[in-house]
Amino acid sequence: MGARDRIRDFFIANVGKVLTTQKIRKVGGISEYARRIRELRDEEGFQIKSHVDRADLKSSEYILETLERKPVISRAISPQLRNEILERNGFTCQLCGAGPGDQDPFNPNRKVRLHVDHVKPISQGGTDDKGNLRVLCSACNQGRANIQPPSDTALNILARIRKLPRSEQQEVFDFLKQKFQTEE
Ligand SMILES: [Zn+2]
Repeated sequence: MGARDRIRDFFIANVGKVLTTQKIRKVGGISEYARRIRELRDEEGFQIKSHVDRADLKSSEYILETLERKPVISRAISPQLRNEILERNGFTCQLCGAGPGDQDPFNPNRKVRLHVDHVKPISQGGTDDKGNLRVLCSACNQGRANIQPPSDTALNILARIRKLPRSEQQEVFDFLKQKFQTEE
């Protein structure tokens, strides 16, 4: 039995429980447990979540949420295509407007991470066509965000603010800060 099999069995036996990397490493007998977990997730569709997906998990913790498996996505899009989509979308989440370096609204200790998402999922026949790709932040990608999508206008403005020099951004920040402090 290989390391992946042992780690799979370990997760299945502890479904719904938080497991530490320390234990997983012990069970797997390897230091490359992270790669094995990725394989279980990407190649076998196991819904193993980490601190990237859930704010309540520490960086050393994983959980198999359910025995139900997700349809497997056979391959990731190429780094070139990924970059193209990121640039096209102004490195901005197309649902909430978050950008890299912004604080993750669900975990103040983390920065937002951007993903390239399939509008129509591969599992439902979606393709890697550019029109089917968009940038989402980790929160929106996980469907955790409970925010109304901003209007095109708001997105455009955010994208423009990102391109401004720091001093100009500071001015915008001061303006908004003052506005919202006054309203409170
Ligand atoms: Zn978002």
